Amino acid sequence: MPECLPKDLEEFRSDLLDFLVEKRGLSSIELRKACLARGIYKIPQPIKYGGSDAGPLKLAISYETVALAGISKISDVIGPGPGILSGANAVIEANYLSPMLRGEKIGSFAFTEADPSNPTVATWTGDNLKITGKKSYVSSGHNSDFMSVVLNVKQGDNSLPSGPAVVVVDAAVPGVLIGDPFVSLDGSAHSEVTFKDVLVSPNDVVGTIGEGIPRAIGGILKERLEQAAIATGMALYAMTLVKEHLSIPHRSGGTLGDLEGVRLRYGEMRINTFATRATLYRAARILEAAPDSINEVTSAKVFCTEMASSVIDSAVQLEGGKALIEGQPLEAMYRKIRSMRLAGGATDILRLSVSKGDLEFDAGIL
Ligand SMILES: Cc1cc2nc3c(=O)[nH]c(=O)nc-3n(C[C@H](O)[C@H](O)[C@H](O)COP(=O)(O)OP(=O)(O)OC[C@H]3O[C@@H](n4cnc5c(N)ncnc54)[C@H](O)[C@@H]3O)c2cc1C
Repeated sequence: MPECLPKDLEEFRSDLLDFLVEKRGLSSIELRKACLARGIYKIPQPIKYGGSDAGPLKLAISYETVALAGISKISDVIGPGPGILSGANAVIEANYLSPMLRGEKIGSFAFTEADPSNPTVATWTGDNLKITGKKSYVSSGHNSDFMSVVLNVKQGDNSLPSGPAVVVVDAAVPGVLIGDPFVSLDGSAHSEVTFKDVLVSPNDVVGTIGEGIPRAIGGILKERLEQAAIATGMALYAMTLVKEHLSIPHRSGGTLGDLEGVRLRYGEMRINTFATRATLYRAARILEAAPDSINEVTSAKVFCTEMASSVIDSAVQLEGGKALIEGQPLEAMYRKIRSMRLAGGATDILRLSVSKGDLEFDAGIL
């Protein structure tokens, strides 16, 4: 297919799809084992951890292909990358990053705060930092061994550094209170996490104090590309399901695909899916050349998740009542894609970020 992808990536994509379609019926554990053996599980990890240090385009293709193969639990196929902990100091690497990449520890990300009266802040007490505050929506918080917490270090009466920071907090230290998990529409579980005078050392700070926002954005950027890719794969998979459905006999006499009104809707779905994939690949290529292209990847996250939502909604409409039966692929995709328009940044808020990037910083391209 003339996607203008390098030949090795074309082959990688088509071999991966064949492999995943063959393996998609396996249990989570078996699938993970097969993907580890195949080398796909560690694809986002650095070479020194046995990964391939894949660039944005190869990563985007990988996530897209997993969703296109109809696999909803992406983490069974592709394991964690370093994310926000990339380039962390040796202490964090030894205690958290390496065990996480080896699959021995689970990390979570604590950013969202619903309660403005209890923001997450740290104050200096001697040589240590004391954290207080509450995070409202930490995915897998109840399962995690540690969390990467975005917070603000308050200025003290000394010359110690202050400002936004990302701090690794061990879930087992005194004062970390993890609430009972709650489940969102897509079936994923999250917890509220309260920090009550939690003491951490400056070694637990990822990078330096003051650079918390760029560091959080670096992690979020990878997550947004991943979400754009998964959304694109979901739209492609929905198209394959609908195409099959349009070709089977229907009570109208022929097939649904014979009806002009259906073709009109189907054509629109194809055009939207085409534009979604084009957007993903363009954003990934831009990231290959300019790794801090937050405005472009944010635009892709919004566009791909919103468009995939529209495609999946139309797919449900064309497939009819059967599509909404629990356990049907479109039913699960419909719930998942709705969550993806909030997770990793709500669509409207990201639209504001893209406007701000252009109007206030002259950043981003069209
Ligand atoms: C499945 C899932 C997983 C998640 N995982 C995590 C996680 O692991 N860690 C984490 O920290 N968070 C997580 N979140 C939380 C997620 O990041 C937030 O839900 C999201 O950023 C939106 O924030 P909010 O819910 O506080 O909504 P709000 O910020 O209150 O926004 C709600 C709506 O209000 C409107 N709005 C808000 N502000 C403005 C404005 N300035 N101008 C115009 N309109 C505005 C928008 O329409 C927006 O959609 C997850 C969410 C989901 C759904």
